[in-house]
Amino acid sequence: MFTDPPPRKGKLALFNQSDRITTLALPPQAELLTPTQSIAAGMKAGQGQEVRLACEHLLLSLSRFYQVSPSGVRVLASRLLRIRENWSSELFGGYDPSSMAIRVWMRPAVKKNFTSFGTFLSTLCHEYCHHLDFQHFQFSDSWHTRGFYERVAGLYHCARGTPAKRLFWAPTSSGRWRIDWPRTNRG
Ligand SMILES: [Zn+2]
Repeated sequence: MFTDPPPRKGKLALFNQSDRITTLALPPQAELLTPTQSIAAGMKAGQGQEVRLACEHLLLSLSRFYQVSPSGVRVLASRLLRIRENWSSELFGGYDPSSMAIRVWMRPAVKKNFTSFGTFLSTLCHEYCHHLDFQHFQFSDSWHTRGFYERVAGLYHCARGTPAKRLFWAPTSSGRWRIDWPRTNRG
């Protein structure tokens, strides 16, 4: 997992601000565990409708907590090959700031297997953190900074009911950062 390269000067201050915000206020875990468990159950049963309702429930709880406009969410069985350009498109999901809509795929295009529950939930939290960048932090853009990934990790562990891990970062020659997973997993 890599951070985005820093943008040109005009937006660099904002990028650095996003990089520095490594914590996110988190809602009471009990509120998130019920929808999270329903997502897991729906995925296990292959019930797209159940997964979608549970995702809506989870995101509504979050939006109430952060006092932001709710985001829409679409749970798609598998990844569409044609992707509209304004979506920040990622392997397992996407977020469109203009319509405040999140998409998550239960199965990525290149793979036959279903996305694992952990990856799915982490994608949902990732896309929701893009939503928070615009709606909660009022940033004019949303980058994958170290701070962004830290906020995603905090939200993910809260929603899953697992202890938060400290992320360790390693610099790359291109000025980007990558998560040092062996060190992060060792704790
Ligand atoms: Zn992203």
